[in-house]
Amino acid sequence: MRAARTLLESEPLPLADCPLPPAHPFDYDAILDDGDTLHEECGVFGVVGVADAANFVALGLHALQHRGQEAGGIVTHDDELGFNSARRFGYVRDNFTSSAVMETLPGPIGIGHVRYSTAGSKGPTQIRDVQPFFGEFSMGGAAIAHNGNITNADALRRELIERGSIFQSSSDSECIIHLMARSLQRDIPARMEDALRRVEGAFSVVAMTRTKLIGVRDPLGVRPLVLGKLGDGWVLSSETCALDIIGADYVREVEPGEMVVITADGGLESQRPFRPQSSRFCIFEHVYFSRPDSIIGGRSVYETRRQIGVELAREAPVEADLVCPVPDSGTPAAIGYAHESGIPYGMGIIRNQYVGRTFIEPTEQIRNMGVRLKLNVNRALIRGKRVILVDDSVVRGTTSRKIKEMILDAGAAEVHFRIASPPTAWPCFYGVDTPKREKLLAATMSEEEMRQHLGVDSLRFVSLDGLYRAVGEASGRSASCPQYCDACFSGEYPVEPADMIEKGFRLKAAE
Ligand code: SF4
Repeated sequence: MRAARTLLESEPLPLADCPLPPAHPFDYDAILDDGDTLHEECGVFGVVGVADAANFVALGLHALQHRGQEAGGIVTHDDELGFNSARRFGYVRDNFTSSAVMETLPGPIGIGHVRYSTAGSKGPTQIRDVQPFFGEFSMGGAAIAHNGNITNADALRRELIERGSIFQSSSDSECIIHLMARSLQRDIPARMEDALRRVEGAFSVVAMTRTKLIGVRDPLGVRPLVLGKLGDGWVLSSETCALDIIGADYVREVEPGEMVVITADGGLESQRPFRPQSSRFCIFEHVYFSRPDSIIGGRSVYETRRQIGVELAREAPVEADLVCPVPDSGTPAAIGYAHESGIPYGMGIIRNQYVGRTFIEPTEQIRNMGVRLKLNVNRALIRGKRVILVDDSVVRGTTSRKIKEMILDAGAAEVHFRIASPPTAWPCFYGVDTPKREKLLAATMSEEEMRQHLGVDSLRFVSLDGLYRAVGEASGRSASCPQYCDACFSGEYPVEPADMIEKGFRLKAAE
């Protein structure tokens, strides 16, 4: 019999954790993005009570790849071999398909994480920043994977380091492991409760011990987390699309402020460790981050996006010949706009699905090709037409300007932008990578100034009330008690971003 093995915090990373040789491919999507797109920073997934859990985790992470493309990791536990972990840079499909890796991850319980590159604003990711994180406690080991952002992480880290904690990564999520280590509770779920009560901000956490799978959402439920059933086993996932890929049945959402503890024999316990609060789910998950085939709050994301297009057509009609989406995320809203307005829908812009990671070095000449590497205009359709372009958001405006130029070069008579979200004027501090406030076009310009800057014939955004109606709030946004987090549009942050305020960020009330 092989000797049982556990990972200890002080041990060097096991072989499976070692990064690939540095020559990993260039991420063209990130290079071409130019900081002009908002990015979800993570996706989490976990499963218990199935043979070879790692295979299901890998498939789940593959379905969540849109939530993070830079790196991913899986931790499993096997009675004989203990905890095992593999963390890699790159896509799930490139790393967690070979038997050489998957055979190192045995066992009936496992969790995983995909991470978006934060290069630039927070420095390049090191393999030690890639989750899940693991900690060895007196009552056994635990691994955690976190989606969201801890808004008091700097203060917690300072305090923990002063008290002797030795951090291994630069990630805010590692604070949770150290807070758990300092808790005096007798079991790991109770220690996790203790730790998470100290944490502010947004967190959907999937964690595991030797025998338990744990899922927790912050009291406002800012980031998503759903529960599924797979045979006798249970699944936790950021989105329902990852349940579909493994054939799991959707059970329900983990509720805001809820902790579910699932045992290997299939038992599920629900706890409420936090003071109850009104939920403030991220409304941008509906607009852009989640996959259109996911279900959020009982609503199809695709249908919500289509409905945003309907609202846009009602709020911002214009005479035109053609409605075109900016692919892919503008597509459902464009379909809704075309349907409501009666203007024909057409694929005026075609996206090259294979621009992603490539080994072709991005020389200056290639960089100058910019968005043309990713998007191409369907000239035969566009020529001579008054075109309505429907996009999900305007962040810095650089991509919108380039798309407008491509459409005019192709012979369009007029270009009208219709945007399926309100102006993004504030950064997100809850797990979405956003440029600083001064880089956001809507923070520095009025709508008319933005129109002139983009050089289009008209520019309109869906209103905040229109967006709320599209997600099912018939009477729009409640001013006294907003039903969602919409801070990036309204500047009203449901959790004060303590670390950022300390660094000089000014809240709306202070401007
Ligand atoms: S600030 Fe915007 S992106 Fe961030 S959680 Fe709130 S709605 Fe979502």
